[in-house]
Amino acid sequence: MVHEPLIADAFGRRFPYLRLSLTDKCNFRCSYCLPNGYAKNKNEEDDLSLLEITRMVEAFAGLGVWKIRLTGGEPTIRSDFLDIAARISSLSGIQKLAFTTNGYKLVERAQDYYNAGLRAINISIDSLKPEQFKTITGHDRLLEIMDGLEACFAAGFSTVKINTVLLKGLNDTELDDFIRFVDDKPVSLRFIELMRTGNNQDYFKRHHLSGSVISNRLLSLGWHVQAREDGAGPAVEFYHPKSVGKIGLIAPYSKDFCTSCNRLRVSSKGALHLCLFGEGGYSLRHLLQQDEQKQELQDQIVSLMVYKKSSHFLHEGNSGATPHLASIGG
Ligand code: SAM
Ligand code: SF4
Repeated sequence: MVHEPLIADAFGRRFPYLRLSLTDKCNFRCSYCLPNGYAKNKNEEDDLSLLEITRMVEAFAGLGVWKIRLTGGEPTIRSDFLDIAARISSLSGIQKLAFTTNGYKLVERAQDYYNAGLRAINISIDSLKPEQFKTITGHDRLLEIMDGLEACFAAGFSTVKINTVLLKGLNDTELDDFIRFVDDKPVSLRFIELMRTGNNQDYFKRHHLSGSVISNRLLSLGWHVQAREDGAGPAVEFYHPKSVGKIGLIAPYSKDFCTSCNRLRVSSKGALHLCLFGEGGYSLRHLLQQDEQKQELQDQIVSLMVYKKSSHFLHEGNSGATPHLASIGG
């Protein structure tokens, strides 16, 4: 049974969904995110331990959160990734454990991920052309990741999504290829509008493209907008009677994107971020040190909700304190 979420903000939004970053580190160099690769900050704290993560998730689950997404950086590079997944998936109240990955070593690991209790996977694939994929991500691994996608179906994943950042001049001419790609695959491929962050201002100017090019093309090809399910996030999903797969659009710059916000974020150091583009986070780490702190932790989470704003204000050029999305989990 799905719980009625107890965490709410001043605008009547409720939060059944937590995105938990396991690490800022990443082994890829996506040109819009970490073009020079991951660089450790001086005096950087350690990532949350398995025990701290467990306490965090137990507190949120007690507040009605039932869906968790593990993200990063690249979450799967943590050596205890499977232990974390197995622990979270066994916690009372957690009904869906998802993760977002760049697909590294997915062929070998898909079955282990499934066996650890992960049930939904988002794989980032920004181009279907190996050369272009390499240009965007810094890694010549497209074909390997495609095999990983097949391994996910074989392993039993029933929810498989593909994330594709829409990039003017880099992959915007591939739309019809992506549509053909999902034709016979039970996946939902989501185009994400490129978001401006602290570190990618020039890149944003060169490569940002409004998602309306996607919706206009889909509608002209006979795709339809799927009715929104209750509690669905901000993605708009399109279906076509003849296509097995679906195409989605995540357009943070569209009007009213934030009204359906249903998620909170916790960084790999244990800070609560009320918005991907907020001004820094609220550290909860000091409340993760003993089991007895659970009530205090929950009270703190609930009381911080008054600071959640109605919108991200990206339209006004705000990119908050987020240098890149790897820093608090995209
Ligand atoms: N490393 C994993 C991956 O790439 O799938 C998980 C973390 S990554 C930050 C999560 C998602 O955010 C990826 O799909 C990535 O393409 C997307 N992303 C990163 N930076 C972005 C940006 N500036 N605008 C839009 N999407 C972005
Ligand atoms: Fe790494 Fe994901 Fe950022 Fe790419 S988008 S650099 S894979 S964290």
